[in-house]
Amino acid sequence: MFICVCLTLFTLALANTASPTFVSCLKNSGLKTEVPQNATWTNSTTPFNKRFSYSPSAIIYPTQTTDVSEAVKCAVKFGIHVSALSGGHSYSASGYGSQNGSLVIMFRDMAQITYSPSDGTVAVEPGARLGDVALELNDNGRALAHGVCPYVGIGGHGAFGGWGFASRNWGLLIDQVAGAVLVLSNGSVVDLNATQHPDLFWAIRGAASSFGIVTRYTLHTHQAPANVVRYSYGFNNPNLSSDVFAKLLSSYQTWGRTAPKELGIEANIWNGGRLVELGGYYMGNLNDFNRISASLLQATGPPSTTYVQQRSWVAALTEVNGGSPLSTLGKPDVVPLAQYFANAQIPNTMSWFIQFELWGGGDSVISSLPANATAYPHRAHLWTIQFYARSTTSWPAQGTDFVNSMVSAITNSMQGTTFGAYANYLDPELIGWRNKYYAENYGRLASLQKMYDPRGVFMKAQNIGAPDL
Ligand SMILES: Cc1cc2nc3c(=O)[nH]c(=O)nc-3n(C[C@H](O)[C@H](O)[C@H](O)COP(=O)(O)OP(=O)(O)OC[C@H]3O[C@@H](n4cnc5c(N)ncnc54)[C@H](O)[C@@H]3O)c2cc1C
Repeated sequence: MFICVCLTLFTLALANTASPTFVSCLKNSGLKTEVPQNATWTNSTTPFNKRFSYSPSAIIYPTQTTDVSEAVKCAVKFGIHVSALSGGHSYSASGYGSQNGSLVIMFRDMAQITYSPSDGTVAVEPGARLGDVALELNDNGRALAHGVCPYVGIGGHGAFGGWGFASRNWGLLIDQVAGAVLVLSNGSVVDLNATQHPDLFWAIRGAASSFGIVTRYTLHTHQAPANVVRYSYGFNNPNLSSDVFAKLLSSYQTWGRTAPKELGIEANIWNGGRLVELGGYYMGNLNDFNRISASLLQATGPPSTTYVQQRSWVAALTEVNGGSPLSTLGKPDVVPLAQYFANAQIPNTMSWFIQFELWGGGDSVISSLPANATAYPHRAHLWTIQFYARSTTSWPAQGTDFVNSMVSAITNSMQGTTFGAYANYLDPELIGWRNKYYAENYGRLASLQKMYDPRGVFMKAQNIGAPDL
C-alpha cells in the first residue's frame, strides 16, 4: 500500500527496469554504471534493513560532482527518479529511493576527507563514514560532533541532523555545516552557504534529499579534546519493576534539564528491560565530572555498576560505539553492526533496545538555536527517544506492533503533549510525518521543493511534497 500511494501521486513516471536507452545515456556520459544483469547487483542492492527491498533501474558510482550532474540529466530525460546512497545506513532503505525503478547515486567512490588548517574547516564527500572522518580529523588535532556508529555515511547523516554525545556541546552535524555543493534537479551545480542560495542552504540542513544531491559538505571543526571522561552507570532491574524504571527515568529527566552542555548522555534500556545504563562522555576534566555525576547519582540513587575513566578522544568514540574500531576501511559492515546491536537474547528471534538521548537541557547548543534556524525544527525538546527492534530471522508478524506499543506507552499517557520525530530515525509508517519531522518548517520547505524540483526528480516516500500518512 505504501508503494502504491507513492506511485499514484509522484510526478515522474517510473520505469521498473532500466531501458537500454537510459543505460546508454549513462554509459555515454562516461559513468560507471551497474544494472540488474550484473553479477554484483544483489550485493549492491541489499539494504542494511532487510525488511525493505527496492529494485533500482540502475546504480552509478560517481567520482566527481560532474558525474552526478550528468546522471541527473539522463534521469530527467527518461523520467526516472534519482536517489543518493552514501553510507547505506537508512533505517528504511531510503537511499534506494523508497520505490522500484530509481536511479541510485552510490557514493562509494566519493569519500575524500580534506582538512584545511588555514580556516579549520573540513571538506567531506558524502561517501565518507563517520569513523573515518573522526580519525582523519583527530590526526589533525580536530573533531566534530556526529553520531556514534562509525559506518554511518556523512551524506545521509548530514542530510537530516546528526546527533552524537558531543552535540550538546557543539551542535548537530547540520549545525557545523559551513557550506555544501548541491546538484539540483536540472543537473546544475550550486555552491551553498549563508550568503549563496541561503534558502537552499537552510533547506538542506534537515531535508537535503528533497532538494538535490550533496556532493560535498564543508564543516566547521573544533579542537579535539586531549581527554574526555567516559562513564557508564548500570542500574539492574532484574524483576522488571516499573517503579525502578519510573524513578530512574524521571530523575534523569528532571536532572537533565540543567545538565551542562559538556555532558553527553543517554539512558539505554537493555537486556529485555533488566538493565538501564546511563552513559556517554563528559568533555571536561575528571574533577568537574565527579561533581556533576555526584548530583546525578543523588537524583537517581546508587548504581549497581560504575565505570568512569579518562580516555583519549578516539578511545571514547570507540567505546561508545561498543568497542568496534572507528576505521571502516577494508572491513565488511555486518560485523560492527552486529556488535553494535549486541543485546541480551530474549525468547523468540527479536531483540530490542530503547535509548533516551539527552539533546536539550541546560545550555545545550542544540537548543540554543530557534526552530527555524535550519530545516530541522526540534530545538526545544529535552530528549530524543529511539525505539529499536531487530530480528535475526524474518521479521516477526508482531514485531512492528511491539515497537509501536512501546511508543504509544509513552504518547498515550501524555495526552496534550506535542511529539515530534527525527528524520534520521526514519519510520516509514509514521502517521503525520510532515508535521512530526518538520513542524512549522514544513510549509516553507514545501514551497522551496516546488520551486527547486518542480518535476519531482528527487521525490520519494517522506521527502518534502510526498503524501502524508
Ligand atoms: C547502526 C546505526 C547507528 C546510528 N547512529 C546514529 C546516531 O548516533 N546519531 C544519529 O543522529 N543518527 C544515527 N543513525 C541514523 C543515521 O544518521 C541515518 O540513518 C542516516 O541517514 C544514514 O546516513 P547514510 O548516508 O549512512 O545512509 P543512506 O542510506 O545512504 O542515506 C539515508 C538518506 O539520506 C539521503 N542521502 C544520502 N546521501 C545523500 C546526499 N549525498 N545528498 C542528499 N541526500 C542524501 C538518502 O537518499 C536517504 O534518503 C544510525 C543509524 C544506524 C543504522
